[in-house]
Parts: sequence; structure tokens; C-alpha cells
Amino acid sequence: MKLIDGKATAAAIRSGLKARTEAFEAKYKRKVGLAVVLIGDDPASRIYVRNKSKACEEAGIRSLNYYLPAETTQREAETLLSALAEDGSVDGILLQLPLPRHLDAKRLLAMIPTEKDVDGFSAENIGKIALNEQGIAACTPRGVMELLKRYEIPVAGKNAVVVGRSNIVGRPMALLLLNADATVTICHSKTRNLREICMQADLLVAAIGKPRFITADMVKEGAVVIDVGVNRIDGALCGDVDFENVKDKASYITPVPGGVGPMTIAMLLESVVEAAERSV
Ligand code: NAP
Repeated sequence: MKLIDGKATAAAIRSGLKARTEAFEAKYKRKVGLAVVLIGDDPASRIYVRNKSKACEEAGIRSLNYYLPAETTQREAETLLSALAEDGSVDGILLQLPLPRHLDAKRLLAMIPTEKDVDGFSAENIGKIALNEQGIAACTPRGVMELLKRYEIPVAGKNAVVVGRSNIVGRPMALLLLNADATVTICHSKTRNLREICMQADLLVAAIGKPRFITADMVKEGAVVIDVGVNRIDGALCGDVDFENVKDKASYITPVPGGVGPMTIAMLLESVVEAAERSV
């Protein structure tokens, strides 16, 4: 079994980005910029935003954080987003979810121009990925593809099984694997014979949100196992894969923490830098 080290891979990507942001600044006399909009006081969101800011700073990206109170009106939020959409020094815009319930999240997300949608959540970016065209892909699935590439794990022609079909992980993950010529099966809560389907997987991606859900009897000998899940049991992080028992069957496996998680933020930073480079 080989452990896929997402932490080290993400660190290598992030230090490479620093050189790109410095070159960008030298040439265009401005920094690459990311705007993050946080509405309300969700404590987890605050931590995410703080971590993103720190990561931006380290990569030479200017991060502009907008903390708006929970009672912000739809009109106020729209005014801010339209200003950011127009602002030439802002290359990427993140609207931190979840939003307070009185706000129309769909409408606000739709105000982010496709080229600044660095989360890759817009219908247009998802559509481009679905059509196998150049678009901004969601950061987590993109991070998985990057790990497979850097570990030289072949994807073309392989049986890939993705468990989970959320818009931010499972669905775009399946599309990226299909674009890389895998034969893809998507499973979800209504799937029958999940174990049998998982057993067919050369490449198994777990994005379910249930601790240690994928057990050793669901994994084929020699499979590549990618664990996207982040769960907490008694305060400790664990993935959607029963790592201890699955690791001896897998040819490659990602740990939690230190696997896919660190790649998500590295891919976000890369998407911002790419958006800046495309904008000039
Ligand atoms: P989500 O929106 O809750 O989606 C979970 C998916 O799992 C759904 O498609 C659901 O099926 C499916 N599912 C639930 N129970 C199942 C079962 N018994 N059998 C088969 N499928 C089942 O979650 P998400 O946002 O995709 O996130 C998934 C996990 O990844 C979470 O642990 C989350 O914390 C983690 N995550 C990690 C990162 C990272 O950076 N590492 C980023 C994002 C998310 P239905 O569609 O039928 O309901």
C-alpha cells in the first residue's frame, strides 16, 4: 500500500504558485486578488475564511474579506457582489455558504461572473466541465485529479466508482473522471448492491459524509481508494473509509486528515491564479 500524501503535494503546489503570483505582480503591477464574502456569523465559516486568507497571503494573493452581518439584506449583498464583479483587481470571488435563510443564495451565486467563479459552482462552469470544455472545476474533485496525476495513477479505461453525488464533490468528480476516460459509476443513497458495485472499482472515491462507511469487504484487492470524507468522532477527524482495515487491500489510499483536504485549498489558490492569468 502506498499512502497518498496530500499535505506534501499541496505544499509543493502552493510554493509553485508563489513564483507565479510574483511574476504576475512584476508584469502587471498589481497582485492577484481573491474576494471572500461571509454573511452572518457561522463559526465554522469564519475559520474557513481565516484559513483561506492565510493561505492566500502565503501564496502572494491579496485576499479581501467582507464580513457582513446576519441581517444583511438581499439588496445590500447584491450591491457588494456587483461591485466585486466589476472590480478589475478582483480575480476570484467566493461567497461562503451557508447563507442566512432570508437570502436567495442561488440568485447571489449567479451574480458571480463565470470567469471569477473560482469555486466552480456556477451552472456555466459545471456545464463546461460536463461538455469536457475548459471551465473552472470545483476545488475538491480537482484536487483528487491532481493527486492521481502527481502519483502517476492511470485513470483511462479504469472502472471508477464515485460514492456520493453532491454538486460540490460527487457529481463534478464523476465528470472529471469521465473526461479522463475512466468508466464511471455514480452511487448514492438509493443505489442497490452498493457493496458489489464498489467491489468492481479499480478506483473508488468516497464522498458520503459518513464515518468509516466504506469497509474492507467493499474494496477490491489493489484498488486505489480516495477518501474525501471529513467527519468527527469524539473530536478526532476521520474519513468515509475505514482506513485501518482498508489500507492493506488498497494499492494507494489517501489518509484523513492529510489527504484530499489540503488539496482543496491548494486548488482554490491555483484557480485564482489561473483566473488572474486569463484576465490579462
Ligand atoms: P452531501 O452533500 O451530504 O452528499 C453526500 C452524498 O452521499 C449524497 O449524494 C448521498 O446520496 C450520498 N449518500 C449518503 N448516504 C449514503 C449511503 N448510505 N449510501 C450511498 N450513498 C450515500 O456531502 P458532500 O458535500 O458531497 O460531502 C461529502 C463528504 O466530503 C463530507 O464528509 C464532507 O465533509 C466532505 N468534504 C470534504 C472536502 C475536502 O476538502 N476534503 C470538501 C467537501 C466535502 P443522496 O444524493 O441520494 O442523498
